[in-house]
Amino acid sequence: MIIVMKPEASSVEIKEVCSKLETLSFSCHVIHGVNQSVIGVVGTITDELLEQAQLWPKVEKAIRVGKPYKLVSRECQPEGSVVKVGSVSIGKEKVVIAGPCAVETEDQMLKTAEAVKKAGANMLRGGAFKPRTSPYAFQGLKTKGLELLSEAGRAYGLPVVTEVVDPRDVEIVAQYADMLQIGARNMQNFSLLKEVGLTRKPILLKRGLSSTIQEWLMAAEYILAEGNSQVVLCERGIRTFEPWTRNTLDISAIALAKETSHLPVLADPSHASGKRSLVEPLAKAALAAGADGLIIEVHPNPDGALSDGPQSLNFEEFERLMARLNLGEGV
Ligand code: PEP
Ligand code: MN
Repeated sequence: MIIVMKPEASSVEIKEVCSKLETLSFSCHVIHGVNQSVIGVVGTITDELLEQAQLWPKVEKAIRVGKPYKLVSRECQPEGSVVKVGSVSIGKEKVVIAGPCAVETEDQMLKTAEAVKKAGANMLRGGAFKPRTSPYAFQGLKTKGLELLSEAGRAYGLPVVTEVVDPRDVEIVAQYADMLQIGARNMQNFSLLKEVGLTRKPILLKRGLSSTIQEWLMAAEYILAEGNSQVVLCERGIRTFEPWTRNTLDISAIALAKETSHLPVLADPSHASGKRSLVEPLAKAALAAGADGLIIEVHPNPDGALSDGPQSLNFEEFERLMARLNLGEGV
């Protein structure tokens, strides 16, 4: 942290700031400028200390220099992480995860698994615990949904990912799923983050609806801090002023997250746009920006889907998209 003192701060007042920090075990280095002095503070700076320091007498501002996230940073690990989910290596190969928003029936899951596998997807998705905006909307089949998802994944050799919304369900979801998803609405549910951090399952961490890139990385840091380093980030669009799309896909966040963190980054063009016609252009843009893969909603009959039908592709549309993305062998 750097503390910039006000021009009128006396040397006694500067010393007082230093001794306050030194009693907290920080070391201080004072640089006397022509107009004002600056104190370089070395040690682990908490957000609280940063905020407090701004309020101390004769302090103009306190600026953080070190990054608050450590384990997820490129400084900590310069080479990109590879997260293995069964035989799939996210971060090494371009990965496509496909499937319906919600698990509805056995027939729906088996048909979808067959179709997405044939089109070249590597993993199957499907929500069993659905975080819906309305308490009256379909909430998911819960344990039955987990069973149907894992059955369909096994039948077609596709590892499965599904969302967990409650720390109390982590154990049961981990029994059926190969990867656990933390949804956008729960990105800062810290008890949930800690709970999945205690598992040894790969985690797909979606960016919060209105979260900054730093908040997203700090959420990942929670999981790594508990000992689980198998984390994949997912940019799924953020809230902006634009009503013509459901969210706004933040392309720069993909490139920035890749630059700042060693964790793999996926993109979700389905939730980002909310419109099936935009899935292809957004998917292409995300890959061009450096995404390690995509998660895409696919449904046998999108118009009859119990959730997110307008953004879901049917089998033919998904096959065409995969052909156009031309991700090559093994994808
Ligand atoms: C989902 O993947 O179905 C979902 C609810 O995603 P998000 O958390 O990104 O809205
Ligand atoms: Mn959805």
